[in-house]
Amino acid sequence: MSGSPVNLDAETEGVEAVLALGSNLGDRRALIRQGIADIDDLTAVSVVAASSLIDSVAVKLDGVDPDAPGYLNAVVIVHTTLPPHDLLRAVNDIEDEHGRVRVERWGDRTLDIDIITYGTAVVNDERLTLPHPEAWQRDFVLAPWLEIDPLASLPGYGDVRELLAQTTHEATPTGEGS
Ligand code: AMP
Repeated sequence: MSGSPVNLDAETEGVEAVLALGSNLGDRRALIRQGIADIDDLTAVSVVAASSLIDSVAVKLDGVDPDAPGYLNAVVIVHTTLPPHDLLRAVNDIEDEHGRVRVERWGDRTLDIDIITYGTAVVNDERLTLPHPEAWQRDFVLAPWLEIDPLASLPGYGDVRELLAQTTHEATPTGEGS
């Protein structure tokens, strides 16, 4: 996979990271909007762009599950000087504040926040995988990302527009801002 190790200048200059939010329990709209506001309120993180909201079918370990409550998704681009593991901890704290309970790894959740990319960094350890290993095939990540960055590229996988064209396009825009 191409890409570069974590930029050692990140702490001083900052990097752009792409975060994906999803919710399929509770007041999904309010949770996504509050999640974005909470991300923007983090120390050393600012939201540069936020996509509109899209609807998607739940994805479980065995594939899409039309019987599970559907998801509302959004993607944000942030500028941050936090190192990637600190960013992960910070977004995990936001998930926890909103009552997400990790009963099963692919289970329903009030608010899920994934780090899709952190600059062009490639990370593979027990806590963090970057770029997010499923992002390349998730239309509910690729479509809102493309909306806010028409030239988006997923390090190691390529052009987001081309990746999106290869998905089944099951996610549907709500037409609502985030
Ligand atoms: P999930 O329940 O699917 O959201 O998985 C959450 C776990 O995945 C967390 O405990 C993270 O340590 C781990 N993880 C690995 N890579 C990532 C990533 N790029 N973004 C968010 N969580 C990640």
